[in-house]
Amino acid sequence: MPQRIRILPEIITNKIAAGEVVERPASVIKELIENSLDADADDITVEITAGGRRLIKIADNGHGMSREDALLSLERHATSKIRTDSDLDGILTLGFRGEALPSIASVSRFRLATREAASLEGTEIIVEGGRVKDVRACGMAPGTVITVEQIFFNTPARLKFLRSAETETGHVGDTVTRMAISRPDVAFTCISDGRELLRVQRGDLLRRVSQALGKDAALDLHTVDSSNNGITVTGFISAPTTVRSTTSAMFTYINGRFVRDRVVQHAIMQAYRGVIDRGRYPIVALFVALPPGEVDVNVHPTKHEVRFRRQPVVHDALQNALEEVLRSSPWLTRHQEQSAQGAQATSQAYRERIAAAAQASLNLTRRETPFHTSTNTCDKRSTNPVAASPSNVDTTTVSEPSTPFQPEAATRESQGYFSSLAIIGQFHAEYILCQSGNELVIIDQHAASERVAYQRLRQQCESSGVESQRLLFPETLELSFAETVVAQRFQADLAKIGFELEPFGGNTIIIAAVPRMAADTNGTILVRDILAELATLGISVAFREKLDALLARIACHSVMRGVHPLDNRQIAELLRSMDETSFVASCPHGRPVSHVITLTELEKIFKRT
Ligand code: ADP
Ligand code: MG
Repeated sequence: MPQRIRILPEIITNKIAAGEVVERPASVIKELIENSLDADADDITVEITAGGRRLIKIADNGHGMSREDALLSLERHATSKIRTDSDLDGILTLGFRGEALPSIASVSRFRLATREAASLEGTEIIVEGGRVKDVRACGMAPGTVITVEQIFFNTPARLKFLRSAETETGHVGDTVTRMAISRPDVAFTCISDGRELLRVQRGDLLRRVSQALGKDAALDLHTVDSSNNGITVTGFISAPTTVRSTTSAMFTYINGRFVRDRVVQHAIMQAYRGVIDRGRYPIVALFVALPPGEVDVNVHPTKHEVRFRRQPVVHDALQNALEEVLRSSPWLTRHQEQSAQGAQATSQAYRERIAAAAQASLNLTRRETPFHTSTNTCDKRSTNPVAASPSNVDTTTVSEPSTPFQPEAATRESQGYFSSLAIIGQFHAEYILCQSGNELVIIDQHAASERVAYQRLRQQCESSGVESQRLLFPETLELSFAETVVAQRFQADLAKIGFELEPFGGNTIIIAAVPRMAADTNGTILVRDILAELATLGISVAFREKLDALLARIACHSVMRGVHPLDNRQIAELLRSMDETSFVASCPHGRPVSHVITLTELEKIFKRT
């Protein structure tokens, strides 16, 4: 019998490997930047023409390669990064498979030029479709320059899958951005058709993020820095008000490697759940570091996916790290700090102006003394400059909060943001207006009370169960078939959140008790609402997973809705409880609770500036 099975020649196996590693120009660039970073480069330049279809060129100032190594680097499974089986369990470099260079070289016209700092000249290797055409010495600066021309010229099927130059350029931009955010200590330049797409200097992460994503994004980023169970989470996350409609600004890294991981993504969205609208995504640049043995990066040739040894531990560490930041809503106080600085500056300017005015009038009086007309006023001014009549002060440029709105207890350091606000009053009996330094703070009273109620309910739920109140006159309720099914199925669970519902034959139930917090509302409407919600969520999902939605429902029923006049005492009470509430910046459905209009914005409206 003739031999059927044959070992494939390397030129073919490389092409097959290229099918996995080299999908498009952006994937070539990812592999080559990884190599540059592994070679300790701190300056990397990427150049493409026609979206990388015509040319891709990457130059680095890393340690370069000797002639022997350069030739070896093009062999399949040739790597300097691991040696033994056990090295696979502790990978600290970005590459390790020894596949990228031979794969790329097998599907393009490829040129590798490289020089070690210690050698006098570099080595240049020309490869075409995987065949080495020439090896020669060349003059160059230390480092490595790789040029990839006419990618997929010998694999027409692949070539067909490439998109327009614009689309491919977009992918390249995304890739370079991801890599650039992962290493703020490395300078990156990306040039497309002679035009600069990105140029970032070495610096810190915040600066890098703001260079890559725009200054606006960076303004609202908050530091994450937590360490638990051997897992550290560091980086920045945006306030729930600074969001995007896609996940494109979510940069997550595991041990320095960019990943798009389901577990990681889920943990982040869990943390933002309830403070961000559905279909909105935060801006994050997050670095999860864990012992290399805890994570397997050898899941897919592109290494975009990872597998965690202790998945739930990583998930919870990440979620907790983010919740820690979100819970305290740092963006509120940051606003306040900025505003306070503004106010301080204003008061300072105001005081200086008053002092100058007082001094001027003092000088004037001195000169005027013989006439003795205005001594009294002047005396007053000089001893108590703040009482100067406004006509003596240029009020157009100076705005000091007038006394009634002066934050009463602003001096109490421990006071929370909302309690420190000076209450102006209510608008339309739906919104609370307050002042904080140079800012007008508008609070949606329904959203605010809903969040407060929701957090209380959650707290009760986590400790001894939601407080229940028995109805003096139990009510009967006629249900739909689906509602009856969920009422029966979840009777015990509903009891834990304060509902006592007893079957009364057929599709009728008796409402014996409701959550205390919602005792003042119409019990039948509330129960119907809860059961309808449960029925839509379906009975297959565990009650625990529906809990948040149900608590949000109860919270919504238990608080004032629509127009609801409040006096200042009630407002102060609400503000105080807001300070005691986690995630207070948005209501349980993710809508914002407060909005700030700055003095500058007002001045623009009134064309004062
Ligand atoms: P891997 O990165 O998985 O080791 P590659 O095929 O990407 O495999 O690269 C093969 C080897 O070539 C690397 O292990 C490294 O030693 C060397 N190499 C590749 N690119 C560079 C570079 N830019 N500078 C220095 N050495 C490089
Ligand atoms: Mg590599």
